[in-house]
Amino acid sequence: MKRYSAFAVAREAVRYHQGWERAWASPQPKKRYDVVIVGAGGHGLATAFYLGKNFGITNVAIIEKGWLGGGNTGRNTTIIRSNYLQDPSAAIYEKARSLYETMSQDLNYNVMFSPRGVMMLAQTQSEIRGYERTAHANAYQGVTTEFIGPQRVKELCPIINIDGPRYPVLGALWQARGGTARHDAVAWGYARACSDMGMDIIQKCEVTGVRQNAGKVVGVDTTKGAIDCEKLAIVVAGHSGELAGMAGFRLPMESVALQALVSEPIKPCMDVVVMANTVHGYMSQSDKGEMVIGGGTDGFNNYTQRGSFHHIEETVRALVETFPMISRLKMLRQWGGIVDVTGDRSPVITKTPLGNCFMNGGWGTGGFKSIPGSGWAMAELVAKGEPGPLSAAFGMERFKEGRFIDESVAAGVAH
Ligand SMILES: Cc1cc2nc3c(=O)[nH]c(=O)nc-3n(C[C@H](O)[C@H](O)[C@H](O)COP(=O)(O)OP(=O)(O)OC[C@H]3O[C@@H](n4cnc5c(N)ncnc54)[C@H](O)[C@@H]3O)c2cc1C
Repeated sequence: MKRYSAFAVAREAVRYHQGWERAWASPQPKKRYDVVIVGAGGHGLATAFYLGKNFGITNVAIIEKGWLGGGNTGRNTTIIRSNYLQDPSAAIYEKARSLYETMSQDLNYNVMFSPRGVMMLAQTQSEIRGYERTAHANAYQGVTTEFIGPQRVKELCPIINIDGPRYPVLGALWQARGGTARHDAVAWGYARACSDMGMDIIQKCEVTGVRQNAGKVVGVDTTKGAIDCEKLAIVVAGHSGELAGMAGFRLPMESVALQALVSEPIKPCMDVVVMANTVHGYMSQSDKGEMVIGGGTDGFNNYTQRGSFHHIEETVRALVETFPMISRLKMLRQWGGIVDVTGDRSPVITKTPLGNCFMNGGWGTGGFKSIPGSGWAMAELVAKGEPGPLSAAFGMERFKEGRFIDESVAAGVAH
């Protein structure tokens, strides 16, 4: 793979850009792989990348029914933060956040990580208590956050109406090194690196069945034929339940649509990410100038990639009261993704009843931020057959044992 650099751009400029090679190959599937990963979203691709980088396992296929990054990875509002309450969550999200800091250099691909700062507004007394508690927990966990007052909120984001018609801003949980990254670029960067290691990314290929023998997976049926494998990793977000069904077990997860929208581009007016959980909306400004807005999940299970219209109205109403200056903006696009939500709002990175089949899902409304940490942990689980320190708490047996990792304050709102 040729390295991307300022020198390469200059060289190609004088050659009319004829010399660029394809970022990743599009091979036909081989008959057999050491590891088959179902799902070429960020988590599947990151799993593949760290299997190669950390464990030297490169005979890997990543099988995708659509196009890579076309699931939730390419549909999210790109908020990155690690200010979670429970120790296992803070550990994996902080690992991910720290990997984002150097991701562009590590992948030689500009993922446009922008640590512009994320604030979660406290607009009720119970939110103040919740976020103060999180800030204290974060101090012990080595995650840098602070609880700030309303005046500091206004200094950091002058377009906020801190008096609020319904809920005044009483403070915020502030993570200065949280931020955003370009979602497609994360998928593309990992894909390019995986392809360079000799892994096969097979797009437009749906897994339709999981073949088993004597309690172990022996391969998968796909729309491009049967593929054998030593180990299977299922990393399909909102379709986790379907794939688990093919493998013959059930998951404690629900699939619902979550939606987002963007406005027409305007001049820079906001250089932080703001989440307003009580009124229920969150917003940041993209590099193109669009206001990127996220709403809530539908209140019923579904597999649409649209989301319901009443949520748009609810979200826009919440944000207009928080940022009155956006009231005259036109909205350009709206879309949805299918997210996989667990009862305790924490993911599963887990062994399954089939010895050589592993599952990663349940990231729900907030798994973009965790992509590198999740890939790191999942690669360890797949390579060693046992969870490492980052994923040990996230086994799905916790739902039977009543050992929940309750993140309803950190992840109750959609992001
Ligand atoms: C509107 C919206 C806003 C969000 N905002 C944020 C945010 O601001 N910050 C944040 O951290 N997170 C956010 N999220 C959540 C985040 O996007 C997801 O948690 C994350 O992208 C999940 O990544 P993934 O790789 O697991 O799944 P995906 O990117 O969905 O990838 C799974 C892939 O599996 C493929 N697949 C499914 N079934 C099969 C099959 N049978 N055969 C082959 N392939 C299959 C799918 O086509 C898909 O490409 C948001 C999500 C949405 C929808």
